Amino acid sequence: MLLANYHIHSDYCDGKNTLEEMVVAGITAGLTSLGLSSHLPLPFTNDWTMKEEYIDQYLNDVKNLKEKYASIIELYCGIEIDFFIDRQDISDLAKKIIPRLDYTIMSIHTLGNTKGDDVSYIDESQHDFEQGIEKYYQGDTQAYIKEYYQGIAKMVTMFEPDILGHLDLIKKYNQNNYFFNEKDSWYQETVKRCLDVIATTKTKIEINTGANMRTPGVGRYPSDWMIPEMKKRNIPITIGGDSHSVTGIVYEYEEAEIYLEKCGYHEYWMLNKGRWEAQPLGV
Ligand SMILES: [Zn+2]
Ligand SMILES: [Zn+2]
Repeated sequence: MLLANYHIHSDYCDGKNTLEEMVVAGITAGLTSLGLSSHLPLPFTNDWTMKEEYIDQYLNDVKNLKEKYASIIELYCGIEIDFFIDRQDISDLAKKIIPRLDYTIMSIHTLGNTKGDDVSYIDESQHDFEQGIEKYYQGDTQAYIKEYYQGIAKMVTMFEPDILGHLDLIKKYNQNNYFFNEKDSWYQETVKRCLDVIATTKTKIEINTGANMRTPGVGRYPSDWMIPEMKKRNIPITIGGDSHSVTGIVYEYEEAEIYLEKCGYHEYWMLNKGRWEAQPLGV
């Protein structure tokens, strides 16, 4: 049984429940190590991240919950941090906050120009994603996807986050191969080159089980065919629900564990008394 979840949102950002409700859901589900990871405020207007004025309160709330539930569960303070392809960097705020966190998750959610307020997102809607590719890449999906994976590789080598969030988020609106075909060799080669780079770092790839809950049919991140490729490169993994409500706290955990074992993974990584440790799968 998987005992952790390091990707948990709350009503500080776009989650539905309070931090404490998420913690209680984790305890009820039998988890022993939980990481809270609301979205860090972004340097442009949006409606899905924490507000900058609430950061101290967020950090303080997590600290209080850690103390309150110390005898029952280990809690860790994280934040989901964005890397921006156009800037090839994370925000100044992110750099300031990282020393105050127990662990970091880094992800890419945007495409194109992030200097103004008219930002396109990968995961907002199929229309928005398509408009972004049109606007910034003249409709050349392949060009964008290659830049996306180069961005992931750059982010991981520059910052070595503890966890890489949803590796292939770009497939979120790719039902019926709307944008690209994962079986195409250019796509597979692009992903493999990215994995080669990740394998040279200490970053763990998150097995993100929450995708199907929010977008039925999308599967898990990363896609099933990528797991043996990760294993071949000995890339360590963590588990995360990308949980935006209490009902998503261990969403499709069992299925994920069975599949990981089938691919030859025997362990996943967990924070245990503040240190990352390998834990056996399937027990
Ligand atoms: Zn995310
Ligand atoms: Zn998330």
